[in-house]
Amino acid sequence: MSDNEEDKKKLTTDYTDKIKKQESVKSAKSAVEKGYRDTLNLPKTSFSMKANLTQREPQMRKEWSKMNIYGKIRQARQGAPSYTLHDGPPYANGDIHMGHVINKVLKDFVVKYKTMTGFDAPYIPGWDCHGLPIESKVMEQLGENIRQMRKLDIRKDCMKYASKYVKIQSKQFQELGIFGDFENPYLTFKPQYEAGILEVFAELVDKGLVYKQLKPIHWSIGCETALAEAELEYKDVSSPSIFVNFPVDKESITKLIELGLVKESEANNTKVCFMIWTTTPWTLAANLAIAVHPYLDYTTISYEKNSRKFVSILATDRLEAVLAAGNLQERQYSIGEKAVKGKELEGLRYVHPFVQKNPTNKDAYMIILAEYVTTEDGTGLVHTAPGHGVEDYVSGQMCNLETYSPVMADGRYDDSVPDWLRRWNVLEVDKVVNKYLADNGFLFAESTITHSYPHCWRSKGPVIFRATEQWFISVDKELPPTASLRKQGVGGKSLRDLALESINNVRWIPAWGQKRIAGMLESRPDWCISRQRSWGLPIPAFISSAEQTLMTKESVLAVAKHIAEKGSDSWFTDSPRQILGNDFKLPDGFNFDDLKKEENIFDVWFESGCSWHSAAVKAGWSVPVDLYLEGSDQHRGWFQLSLLPALGAIGKAPFKGVLTHGFTVDEKGMKQSKSLGNYVNALDEVAKYGSDILRLWVASVNYQEDIRCNDELIGRTQDAYRKIRNTLRFLLGNTYDFDFNADSVAYNDMFEVDKWALQQLQKLVIDVTEAYENFIFHKVFSLIYNFCTVQMSSIYMDVLKDRLYCDASDSLSRRSAQTAMCKILDCLIRMLAPILVHTAEEAWRAMNSSCGMREAYCERDKTHDAIRNTQYEESIHWAEMTKVDDSIDFKSSEQKWHKLMELRDEVLRVLEVLRKEKKIASNQEACVNIYCADEELAGLVEEFGLEQFAALCIVSEVKLQKAADKTTVTAEKSSYNKCQRCWNYWPSVGTDSEHPDLCKRCVEVVRD
Ligand SMILES: [Zn+2]
Repeated sequence: MSDNEEDKKKLTTDYTDKIKKQESVKSAKSAVEKGYRDTLNLPKTSFSMKANLTQREPQMRKEWSKMNIYGKIRQARQGAPSYTLHDGPPYANGDIHMGHVINKVLKDFVVKYKTMTGFDAPYIPGWDCHGLPIESKVMEQLGENIRQMRKLDIRKDCMKYASKYVKIQSKQFQELGIFGDFENPYLTFKPQYEAGILEVFAELVDKGLVYKQLKPIHWSIGCETALAEAELEYKDVSSPSIFVNFPVDKESITKLIELGLVKESEANNTKVCFMIWTTTPWTLAANLAIAVHPYLDYTTISYEKNSRKFVSILATDRLEAVLAAGNLQERQYSIGEKAVKGKELEGLRYVHPFVQKNPTNKDAYMIILAEYVTTEDGTGLVHTAPGHGVEDYVSGQMCNLETYSPVMADGRYDDSVPDWLRRWNVLEVDKVVNKYLADNGFLFAESTITHSYPHCWRSKGPVIFRATEQWFISVDKELPPTASLRKQGVGGKSLRDLALESINNVRWIPAWGQKRIAGMLESRPDWCISRQRSWGLPIPAFISSAEQTLMTKESVLAVAKHIAEKGSDSWFTDSPRQILGNDFKLPDGFNFDDLKKEENIFDVWFESGCSWHSAAVKAGWSVPVDLYLEGSDQHRGWFQLSLLPALGAIGKAPFKGVLTHGFTVDEKGMKQSKSLGNYVNALDEVAKYGSDILRLWVASVNYQEDIRCNDELIGRTQDAYRKIRNTLRFLLGNTYDFDFNADSVAYNDMFEVDKWALQQLQKLVIDVTEAYENFIFHKVFSLIYNFCTVQMSSIYMDVLKDRLYCDASDSLSRRSAQTAMCKILDCLIRMLAPILVHTAEEAWRAMNSSCGMREAYCERDKTHDAIRNTQYEESIHWAEMTKVDDSIDFKSSEQKWHKLMELRDEVLRVLEVLRKEKKIASNQEACVNIYCADEELAGLVEEFGLEQFAALCIVSEVKLQKAADKTTVTAEKSSYNKCQRCWNYWPSVGTDSEHPDLCKRCVEVVRD
C-alpha cells in the first residue's frame, strides 16, 4: 500500500471513528450507504499521521546531502548581512553524548533561525585535535611499545586517532539534522590553523606579554605535565593537619628575651619555637622561611610535652584554637604576658626541624613579613616553600629566596632532601614526615581536615604545586604605552584590565555570565601555556648554548610560515635554519648552528583560544563574531582563554555575545555518569526516537539551568510532537483543494472565528519572534505547543470541521476557513523549521504539492536582493521566517473574544454534565439556552450571531434570553431531527421532500 493510500484509509478511519463515538454504527452506515460520505470534503494529505522519524529522517538527510543543502543556503544568502556563530571545538575523542547534543542543537537553532530571518549565517564546525586526552589514549593503546617510539611516531598515531573521531562525530552531528560546512571543518592540527596560532602568539610576544620562568604551577604527577586552571577538578579530600614547632636559633632567642616574649630564666631549659601549621607535610622539606603578618599580635604559650618544656610563639588570636588542637587543659600551660607585633619578629632565625643545611644558594630559615597572613586558621605563622605555593613564591621573590623545588616530574623527591626522604613520592610521604616530627619532638598536634583540593582532570589524582620552568602569558603586565596601542585603547593596560573592561560590552546570556567571568578574571594567575608533552604545537623558541632565548615577533612569524607549509611535525625534523629560513636575520649573539629548539608544546587551550583568528578570521569573518555558545564551564575555559589572546593580539574581544547552557543531570538532579548507571546514551536516543524528538526535547528545556534528562523525559516529548504533527496534518489535510491566489478570502470578508484564529496567530508570531530573538527556545516551544493544543486543537479545528467537511467545497465559509488555515500552516511550518528540521521540511513539501499557496508566499518573501532569485520552494530551510502582519489588529477585539470564550467555556461545562448523564451523546445534539444578565455580553452574542455562536460551541442551536440578576446556561436534547450527512440537529431537516433526511445546507450541497 502506498503512503498516500494508507493515509486516505486512515483519514477515513479517523472520520469513521468519530462517527462511532458520536453515533450508532447503524446510522453511520446509513450515511455511507446513501453515498453522502462521498459528498463530504474529507481531508487529504501525503503528510501521514505516523511520523516514522527513524526511517524518514535518514532518507531526508540523503536528499539534503544530494542537493548540497548547506551550499544552497549559503548561495541563497550571498551578499546578505552576516550573522556569525563561531563554533567552540569539541574534543575529538569518543562518541557524542547528550552534552554535545544540547550544545550543537542549540547552535543549530540559532543558525537556522538567523538564516531564515535573512542573514548569511555560516556554520563551520571545529574540533580540538591536540592535547593530553588523545595522547594518553594513544599511549594506553601503545602500552610498552611506547618506550621504543620516537616522538614523531607517537604524534602520527595521535593524528590518526583524532582524525578518526572527527569523522565519527561529524557524522553523528549531521544525524541530528545540523547543517554546516562539514566538508571543511576547522581542525586544530591543520597546518593553516597551527600557523594562525603562531600569528596570534607573535603579537603577544611582540607586546612583551610572554615570559619564561621557574614558578610553582599546578602539576599533575599522573600525567607529568603542567595543568591549566581549566584542567583542574575540585574534590573534597581529607588531609593531615599538623602543628609543628620550628626551634628558634640561639642568637634569635636573645632577641626574643630582649623583646620580652621569652624570660631569661626559661631560655636555658626550654625549647623556644615558632609554631607553624600545614596541611601538606611533604612541602616542609622545601621550607625556606616562615611568614608573619607585620601588624598582628604574637605571644607565647609555655607547656610541657613528653616531659620537655616548650615555649611556642604564635598569633594571639589563634591561642584558643591552637590550645584546643593540642588538647592542652587548664594548668597544663601558661600564656605569655607580653605580645609583640609581627614586624618585631622580622629577620629572626630558626633551625629547620629536619634539613641540616640550607640546600639553596640563597639565604633561608628566617621570619619574613607577608600581608596575606590571616588568623582564619593555623597559627598566624605561615610555613613558606617558594617552590610549592603561589603566595610562597611571591614572598620568596620579595625576600630573595630561591624557588626551591626538590620534587621531580614523577612526584618523587630528588637527592637534595635528607636521606630518609629521598625517592619518596610526595603524595605518599606525609605519614613518614609526621612520624619523624613526632619522634623528634617537633609535632605539637596532628589531626585531619576535609577541604576542597584540585585534582587532575585526566589522571584524577591530586595536583601539587611544583616549581618548573614554564612559559607564561602575563595578565598583569601592561601592554607597551606606544602611540598606536594607546590609540587602540590598550597601551599601558594589562590583559586583566582590558578583559574586565571588554566584558562590559559583551551581551551575556544569561546575564549572570558576566559576573561569573569577571570573578574568574579578577583572581586568575598568569597563564601557564607550556606543556611537557608530544601531541601539540611546539612553542616556537630557540635557545643558544649560552642559554639565551630567541623568540621575537619576527622569529615566531618565520616559524608560522614554515609550519603553514609543512605542519608542526617539521619542528621536530627540520633544523633551526630550515625552520627560520636561510634569509632570516638572527639577532646579534645567535647563530644557526648554536640553536636548540624548545621541547615544550602549547597548552591546548591556547590553541582553541586562537580559533577566532585561525578559524573565523581565516574564513573571512569579521571579529568580533556575533556569538559564542557553549556550556557554562567555559567561562573558565574557552570564553576566557579566547578573550585574553584576542585582547593581546588585536585589542578587542573576539565575541559580541556569549550564550551559555547548563549540563544534563538525572531526574533527581544528580550528575550523570556511566558508573552511576544514570547515563543517557545520545546515540541510543536518536536511534530510538529520531532526531526531531531530541531536538524538540532540547527546545523544551530551560537550558540556562541544570537540564534533567533521562530516556523517559525524552520519550515524553513524543506526545508533544504528535500534537504538533497532528495540527500540521489537519491544516494540510483541509487545504488540499485550496489555491491561495485564486481562492483566498480578504480578511474583512472572513468569518469572525477565522479572524479570531488569525488574530491568535499574530499574537503567537509576535511572541515567538521575541522568544527566538532572545534565544529563549523553551518559550518558542511552549508557545507553539500551546497554540496547537489549545487554540487549534481544542477550539478552532473542532469548530471548523462542520464547515470544512460539509459546506460546499468552494463556498465562502469554507474558503474563509481555508484562508486562515493556510496562513496558520505556513507560519507554523516556518516557526518550527529551526527546531523540527525534518518534520518542517516534510510538511513544507506536503503543502507545496497541495495548496499552491507557496508561490504566493514565496513572492511576498523575496524581500532581500540576495534571495530574490532563489528557487527556494525546494526546502523550507532557505525560506524566510514568518513576519508579523501589522494589518491584523488583535488588540481591539481581545476583550470581546475573552467574554465570548468565557461564555463558551460555561456552555461546554453544562454540556459535559449532560453527556455524563447520557442525556446527549454529542454536543451536536444539544440545544443551549443562555439567560444573560450581562447586557454587554448579550449584545456581543447577538452581534456575533446565534448561529455562529452555536457553531463555536458545536451545538445544534443557541437561544438567548435576558435575565435579571445572574447569567445562567442550560441545555437539553434538541427536538429537531438529525441530518444524516452532517449530523446537526437543525429545524430544516426534513423540509426537503427529495432528501427528507438532510438539512437545508446539505440538500444544497448534495444537489450541486
Ligand atoms: Zn446537514
